[in-house]
Amino acid sequence: MQRGKASVLERFKEPLQLREWTVPEVEAGATLVRTEMAGICGTDVHLWKGELPIGLPVILGHETVGRIEALGAGLDRDWTGQSLKKGDRVTWNSAVSCGKCYYCAEKRQPTRCPQRRAYGIGYRCDEGPHFLGGYAEFHYLRPGTTIFKLPDDLPTESVIGAGCALITAIHGVERTGIDWQDKVVVQGAGPVGIAALAVAKSAGASEVTVIGGPKHRLDTAKEFGADHVIDLAEVKTPEARIQAVRELTGGYGADVVLECVGAPGAVVEGMEMCRDGGKYLVLGHYCDAGTVAFNPHVITRKQLQVFGSWSSEPRHLKAALEFLRRYRKEFPFEKMVSHRFSLEQANEALQTTARWQASKSVIVPGKR
Ligand SMILES: [Zn+2]
Ligand SMILES: [Zn+2]
Repeated sequence: MQRGKASVLERFKEPLQLREWTVPEVEAGATLVRTEMAGICGTDVHLWKGELPIGLPVILGHETVGRIEALGAGLDRDWTGQSLKKGDRVTWNSAVSCGKCYYCAEKRQPTRCPQRRAYGIGYRCDEGPHFLGGYAEFHYLRPGTTIFKLPDDLPTESVIGAGCALITAIHGVERTGIDWQDKVVVQGAGPVGIAALAVAKSAGASEVTVIGGPKHRLDTAKEFGADHVIDLAEVKTPEARIQAVRELTGGYGADVVLECVGAPGAVVEGMEMCRDGGKYLVLGHYCDAGTVAFNPHVITRKQLQVFGSWSSEPRHLKAALEFLRRYRKEFPFEKMVSHRFSLEQANEALQTTARWQASKSVIVPGKR
């Protein structure tokens, strides 16, 4: 019987524990994957702190690339129809919608399907098949998981460097809509902000301004084609930042503002950065960060359109993989991977992300 190791969150805010289980038999329609690389997402830090309602113990990690170790009966194609075999390098959507419920089938909002549970978040690991998160040597993909075979010319680092941030941004920008030559502001220079910048640029935005910090993140924004950056450490008040955006947009404000911060105050500030009739997307609030005083008059007076966007669908992952492959030079997501850790160092990897030291920390289970 083959055994596999995993790094497990057993108690909030305490070090992850290395555990070992027998690798499960693969049922019909399922897949067993050997983890090649698992990304650490900012959400993992929130999960570790207990800021989201999840059951423990859990194996964190919802951005994963692996190689197929075993295919269950009846599974021979990925989501796009490509054939699958042992040894293929694959990635997958962390959550699957049911396809049949009110939100999936009738209202076409599958990301709001009540049946959705995400790998690395919503599955306890103390019962079989255990391996339902990225921080482990193996990953079990349940029947129905939307799997994507990776082309040989797309590095694993590109997929993990882009992580869940890119598919989140693709979905958010799709819902909001960016017109050709729009002037866009991205609030936040973390992974979601950088991804939103790349998507906005490729959607036809003329000028994209990124607001954030610290400096190394703004340098990444410039490398990804930001036309202007506003450093929070230099332009310290909301009023000054709103003024800076006006000056960059002929005095009017931006056509589209994308919030990728996750702090409630940023929303109040960002809406003021929109031109009249502009659009505002609240994308960064995956955790409940609390409330903020806000004057709804702003939305009426400015005739704003306000959007929200949650997670992503399989088609967004398909688009992301094609985008990553085609625009490796323009948007070098592979360079985002800055820190590599072994599975035994998973805790350290998580803390590096918590302290904002890394562009992107990853776990490479095979690393010694
Ligand atoms: Zn994530
Ligand atoms: Zn559903």
